This record gives sequence, C-alpha cells and structure tokens, in this order.
Amino acid sequence: MPSYRKYPGDIIVNYDEPLPKPTKIKKDKYVQAVKEKFEERSQTGIKKYNTTLEREDLSFLDWINHLQEELMDATLYLERLKTSYAEETTKVVKQVQESYIKQSPKDNKHISYSQLSSFATCQKQWYLTYVRKLAPYQPSIHAVFGTAMHETIQSWLATLYNDKVKLANEMDLDALLYENIIKAYKAQKAMNAHDHFTTQEEMNMFYIDGKHILNFLKKKRGGYFTTKGVYLAGIETLLYQELRPGVVFKGLIDLVFYDERVDEWTIVDIKTSTSGWNKFAKEDDKRKSQILLYKEFFSRQFNIPREKINVEYFILKRKVPKEAEFASMQKRVQEFKPADGPRKMKQAVDLMENFVKEAVDLNGEYIEKDYPASPSNDACRFCTIKEMRLCPDAVF
Ligand code: SF4
Repeated sequence: MPSYRKYPGDIIVNYDEPLPKPTKIKKDKYVQAVKEKFEERSQTGIKKYNTTLEREDLSFLDWINHLQEELMDATLYLERLKTSYAEETTKVVKQVQESYIKQSPKDNKHISYSQLSSFATCQKQWYLTYVRKLAPYQPSIHAVFGTAMHETIQSWLATLYNDKVKLANEMDLDALLYENIIKAYKAQKAMNAHDHFTTQEEMNMFYIDGKHILNFLKKKRGGYFTTKGVYLAGIETLLYQELRPGVVFKGLIDLVFYDERVDEWTIVDIKTSTSGWNKFAKEDDKRKSQILLYKEFFSRQFNIPREKINVEYFILKRKVPKEAEFASMQKRVQEFKPADGPRKMKQAVDLMENFVKEAVDLNGEYIEKDYPASPSNDACRFCTIKEMRLCPDAVF
C-alpha cells in the first residue's frame, strides 16, 4: 500500500468503513393532513376564481381586508363551537345529576363492592355471610360516624355548588353533624333489636372529632373544593351495570365533579379513618379496586371515556398528632389518588369477573360449594363469623 505524506488539516478517509445509514424522516400525520388540505383548497380557488395568490391586481390594503374578514369569520366559528361545546357539557352533567335508574332486585342478582371485598379476603367468610346469611347485623359507632359525616359534608357541598358560597359558609355544620349522628344511631339501634351499642361518652368523642374535621374543611374549603368552572354533578350517584345477564353491579358514588376548564370528571369516595391510610393501606389492590370499579361502571353508564375520569379517596382523619413533624400531618384530610391506568383498571375488572365466574351460576344463583377459608390476622380480625364461633380455621 503506497504511503503518502500527510499535511496538517488533511482528512483521512477509510473507504472500508460503512457509510452511516440515512436517517428515516419522521412525518407528523397532522402536518401531512394540513398540507393536503392546503393543496385541495388551492385547486378549488384556482377553479373557482381562475387565478392564484400570485395575482397582481390586489393592493396591500385589499390583502389586509381579506385577512381581516377571514379572522372575523374564524372568531364567529369559535364562538359557535364554544357555545355548542358548553351546551353539550351541561347536557352530560345534567344527565348524571338527574340520572334515575330503576333497580330490579327480583330479576337480578345485585353484586356490591363489599361482597367482592369479602370474597377476595376469605371466600368462606363471603359464603357464610352473603349466601348462608349467618352473620348477624353488626352496628358500630364507626359506621354511625361514617354515615353522619357523609351526609353532613354532602349537604354542605350541595349548598356550596348548587346554591351560594355565602349560604354554605353560614351553615352550622356542627349542629347538622349532631343531628345526623342521632339519626344514624337511631337507625342502627332499630336494626339491632333496639339495643344500645355504644356509650354517651364514646358518641361525644366521635362528635368532637367530627367537629374538628368540619372546622378544618370549612377553613381550607378553597383548597379542596373550588367552584370556579367546576360542577357538582352527583351525590350518591347510583351505578347499576350488568356484569352478565341477570347479574348486576350496584354501587353508589359519594361525589361526582365535572371540571369544564379541563373537560374532566372526578369521582370521589369519602372514607372516615382514625388517623388516615398508611403505606400498606395505600398499596392494598383489593381496597383500591372499589374506586377503579366505580370508574369503570361510571364510564360505561354515562358513556364517558375512561381517560376523562379521575378517581380520589377523600379520607377524613379523626385524629391528628398534636405535635406533628410536618404540617401536612396535621391536616384532617388525606387525598389519595390511586393509579388508574389501563393495567390497574383491568386488574380491578378481572377481580370482579373472576368473582362472578366462581360464585354465580348461569341462572344468576350463587353456587353452593365448599368455599376455602383464608385465615390470617388481617382477614379474621373483624370477621363476624369468627365472633360467632362458626369457623374452625379462625385466627384469634
Ligand atoms: S374467621 Fe377467618 S378464616 Fe374464618 S371465615 Fe372469618 S376470615 Fe375466614
């Protein structure tokens, strides 16, 4: 191979090296579509006026006038679109607000999230509770408090969104909570053969906790419930969706909001808790499947795309540490928005479908069989079947 004298600045080219592959040009389909439209429009103009933009017979001012007229038309089109979009939106919000669904428990087997949760925890517990109906009614101050807080907050929000902010601010929420606690207690006592199931002291403690939560909510109302561009589209919205002929999912969504600024819905489930959800509670897929199933059935019922629906647990904390490390720990509300992408949604729907497949026959009747027990500290802790000494597998 001949050698050459090299000079500074010489570029050495090795012809054995492969040439770099030409990079593929990525095209934007929208740009391509607009380019085609420009061409089409140009051809239509040429045919119609027998001239092109290269014409020389228009003055500078003529061109400006043309542009101004086109922009004026564009503004009119925008106004027209905005109006029909707002009308369409109001229609869907009304549809949710006024939805009335006739339930037919005689013709259908109703499946609730509570049933699914029980089945996923321990199939034996579900069978003895829901099929054999061996678990007696269990009243509790926690359930009384939960019902009373739901009703109080829902009444307050109904006034806030459907009436006036001023009126909502003036509401005596403590008095309303007191009334609702008494009402809920009486209802549970009646179902408990009129036997008392708590003490005055315990009731008072729960009432005071509730007052703290309501006081916090009123003070921080703007941070949690904005009324600008947001509608309260539903309180206790009934979901009633067929899982298979004769088997229907039934659920109630505590709150449904529609935010017209971003064209999105949020479905909210209110929970009461002693001190909020910890890491384990937030990682519990079974627990999270409740709101994901609500999202799925809300989407099906009102024909709203899933990607436009957000989910949230609004957790009310009865207790907060007096001397908390972080200010956030003293908040009486914990907002938890579980992941609700397609994979998580499928997981929740599969859980429900598997339950129906395992436990309900094609005639819509519960299948009689030996359902397995899944004893564990967590599963057995609050199990009524254990309390009744009906389960030899129970963990005490
Ligand atoms: S006591 Fe435990 S194992 Fe038995 S039914 Fe209840 S949850 Fe299942």
